[in-house]
Amino acid sequence: MKLIFLGPPGAGKGTIADLAMQELGIPHISTGDLFRAAVKNGTALGLKVKDIMASGGLVPDDLTIALVAERLAEGDAKKGWILDGFPRTIPQAEALEKMTAADKVVNFEVADDIVVGRLSGRRMCKTCGKIYHEKNMPPKVAGICDVDGSPLYTRDDDKEGAIKVRLDTYRKQTAPLIDWYGKKGKLLTIDGVGAPAAVLQRFQAALKK
Ligand SMILES: [Zn+2]
Repeated sequence: MKLIFLGPPGAGKGTIADLAMQELGIPHISTGDLFRAAVKNGTALGLKVKDIMASGGLVPDDLTIALVAERLAEGDAKKGWILDGFPRTIPQAEALEKMTAADKVVNFEVADDIVVGRLSGRRMCKTCGKIYHEKNMPPKVAGICDVDGSPLYTRDDDKEGAIKVRLDTYRKQTAPLIDWYGKKGKLLTIDGVGAPAAVLQRFQAALKK
């Protein structure tokens, strides 16, 4: 099963992808994670994307496509995958279609005000990358990771100014993909509001149809 998850930043795609990954036995491939790993490892690509990500902008198509192609060539991606954060533009979708076409494209719908609340409360561990939320998923001790005791921080792209830029960018560049995949008959639209377990159930029901 080859799936693409679409939806605004903060729609919970990553959380649902992690749950679905265990169930379907296919890897969850997040371009955000691939980029952050490249930045952390200081690769040539990482240095290029660092500034772009901090300002909330999109990494250019050619860099993104190269990174994803490399990841899809790995052994665990042979039986399928969930792509989260890719494609984000029509050229990226066309490039993917040439490499390997997705079976279904799942669009998680969440209103902007809910997205802002979710993202601005998000805190990430500097060491292990675990994600918390001030209100919805707080750590046991405020500001400290439950797993390894490291300090939590707000990612630059989760700060309010960057969130607005990310939402605008999403609406302008990624929303046309919804039409594009709709015309191919691959689109499943899901209400992304609510607890992860409820959204997962809607996703499973939509896949079965
Ligand atoms: Zn941690």
